[in-house]
Amino acid sequence: MGGVSARLEDLPLRADLRGQKPYGAPQAPLPVALNVNENTHPVPQDVADDIVDSIAIALRDVNRYPDREFTALREGFADYLGHGLTREQIWAANGSNEVLQHILQAFAGPGRSAFGFGPTYSMYPLLTRGTGAEWVAGARADDYTIDPADAARQVADAAPDVVFLCSPNNPTGTPLRLDAIEAVYEASNGIVIVDEAYFEFAPGDERSALTLLPGRERLVVSRTMSKAFAFAGARVGYLAADPALIDALRLVRLPYHLSALTQAAASAALRHAPTMLRMVDDIVGQRDRIGATVEALGYTPHESWTNFVLFGGVADPAATWRALYDEGVLIRDVGIPHHLRVTAGTEEETTAFLDALASVGSAA
Ligand code: PMP
Repeated sequence: MGGVSARLEDLPLRADLRGQKPYGAPQAPLPVALNVNENTHPVPQDVADDIVDSIAIALRDVNRYPDREFTALREGFADYLGHGLTREQIWAANGSNEVLQHILQAFAGPGRSAFGFGPTYSMYPLLTRGTGAEWVAGARADDYTIDPADAARQVADAAPDVVFLCSPNNPTGTPLRLDAIEAVYEASNGIVIVDEAYFEFAPGDERSALTLLPGRERLVVSRTMSKAFAFAGARVGYLAADPALIDALRLVRLPYHLSALTQAAASAALRHAPTMLRMVDDIVGQRDRIGATVEALGYTPHESWTNFVLFGGVADPAATWRALYDEGVLIRDVGIPHHLRVTAGTEEETTAFLDALASVGSAA
């Protein structure tokens, strides 16, 4: 073959994918990477040792396909979530992105639609369109909150097949009240997904949407091990829903989609849940320190119940992003005018970000 490769436009790509952009958080090997809302604390050594032992045992049988029903792992998630959940109500996949994709494959697809209140997680439209469904963007209030009555009205008007409620919301950090979830559920005939990817960072006395599951067979609560659990690289997300809804997901998943090694690693990590989660309080402390400090620097942080802070008042986000980059600090320009988003890191990483911000920029 010659050296000239084909262009995307030359390939018989699906018409609805032409001109679309892939998910594209910049990946750069900077010393301080606070751009994709990871837990920047490594897995504790004693837990890592147990995970390695579990993977070693799983490797002995790796000539065979894994348990297609990932029974032990589903039991682990049911125990972790509590609320009287059983494994029949649990599903998991390679990251909550794949969990969400399974829902869309089963309940969206060509001729159907999915809906979310923007600005929200940028993968929702991409995953939706990937199944051939239409994405419909609803609106939030100026402070990014969602009013229950207004939300119900918007959802009733759009009549989507799937509704995404990100609680708390990425990229804004905004909490979502349970009465808004109830109102949207009542206003809809479709699947309502409450994405609780960041729930562990919310105040301890906050109720999860898991409490709303009984009697609501169209409600799904999704979670991930990528954030609070410090397990982003292992790719494990999960959800809780009615067993009938779980059956629908079996129609679209690939056989054996969770490898034996992933199942072993995730089950081992879950056995150490309190240790895995012990940095959460520290991260929440750093998050609140970011909020207070950027405010003192003249920016306007938004209330956050997550492990990141969205702050406004940035005169030129692209320029500030670049100046921080040049200082070795990677954060995220999420495309909201005059805003940037930063993940709460370790105390040292957070200090590096705050010092760099103070040195590079001026608020608008
Ligand atoms: N939901 C939200 C709101 C997220 O922010 C993310 C990751 N940024 C995900 C889901 C997906 O995470 P993962 O696939 O790693 O579980």
